[in-house]
Amino acid sequence: MDLMEYQGKDLFRRYGIPTSAQGQVASSADDAAALATGFGVPVMVKAQVLTGGRGKAGGVQYCPDPAAARAAAERILGLDIKGHVVGLVLVEPASDIAEEYYLSLLVDRVGKGHKIICSAEGGVEIEQVNRTNPEKVVKVDVDPTAGLSAATARRVMDDAGLPERARDQAAALLLGLYQGFVDADATLFEVNPLVLTPDDRVIALDAKVSIDGNALFRHPDLAALDDSSAGDSLEARAKQAGLQYVKLDGDIGVMGNGAGLVMSTLDVVNQAGGRPANFLDAGGGASAASMATGIAFVLGDPQVKVMLVNIFGGITRCDDVARGVLGALEEIGEVRQKLVVRLDGTNAEEGRRLLTEADNPNIVPAEKMLDAAEAAVALVKEA
Ligand code: GDP
Ligand code: MG
Repeated sequence: MDLMEYQGKDLFRRYGIPTSAQGQVASSADDAAALATGFGVPVMVKAQVLTGGRGKAGGVQYCPDPAAARAAAERILGLDIKGHVVGLVLVEPASDIAEEYYLSLLVDRVGKGHKIICSAEGGVEIEQVNRTNPEKVVKVDVDPTAGLSAATARRVMDDAGLPERARDQAAALLLGLYQGFVDADATLFEVNPLVLTPDDRVIALDAKVSIDGNALFRHPDLAALDDSSAGDSLEARAKQAGLQYVKLDGDIGVMGNGAGLVMSTLDVVNQAGGRPANFLDAGGGASAASMATGIAFVLGDPQVKVMLVNIFGGITRCDDVARGVLGALEEIGEVRQKLVVRLDGTNAEEGRRLLTEADNPNIVPAEKMLDAAEAAVALVKEA
């Protein structure tokens, strides 16, 4: 789960990490102007979206007075930044910048530990610095069982070549960052830029934070910030309905029981020359009711031309599944897509018999996974 910049900075502040002066979010130009008036100093108006590169996209603006803040908010609210539409801006007192650095902490899955990345060349894309001047990017592995020592934190700043007057503060900031990173079960803390002000203070000017979704149950306060189930995108509605759903860009809707089976179904659809429209796992012990919810959901996607239901019955009985499929179609009423239904495992024959007997023109029963995928691909061409 990703946090917006203002939420990330709030989290940093809880760990005593110096950031830009506390700002406030606004969802209208009037509110942004009122906040700027209240602060009474030049402010930054910054798009709050879950993606980087806001500056380059025109989503970060220095505003000397409230009128400028109003104009900036007017322009930035509604802006599309890499597919994210801005609904909220952060208005905060602008900081003066002498130098910009880069600092991040991440979970390194390959190295099975934590990694610190630091560079005196900040503010720009670190990938670019890494390509052109790799010696300017310091990478240090941290053993999570040992933690980060003050000496290591200081050595990072020495090696990165920060000016002497910034090193102690930057090292202290890194220690606080590391504490917060571990406590929050984060997978990424990125500060770009980390800034040295003209009066020699080191502060975090930007915050990119990702929290491990599997650990959110330990952090109800952070989980409450998750708005990925808000709105009415397909994925948001799937989440509200309790479905394990991922939207893809093809035209064959896929549903199966068990994540592994659904993944292989996507592969087999590709192998047969088709393109899956989604991943949908109805769950290991899929019931007739959850089948019905899943089918209605997939068929409701305007991009789906054909649906492939792939069920391997274990505890789930295929005759129950067949009844679930038929019930779902009856409930939906007019269905424009064909459904290839592959049933195997417990009571598969009984299930297929029920489907055949129902004589529903929308249903094509299948026995083997590859046959089912090939049938679906052929039906797409007809659709
Ligand atoms: P990003 O483009 O999404 O990474 O957004 P940032 O928060 O990093 O802002 C982009 C750039 O705007 C920074 O690298 C700074 O150069 C500039 N910027 C951000 N905040 C301030 C500020 O308080 N004062 C000044 N002068 N510049 C800022
Ligand atoms: Mg940044």
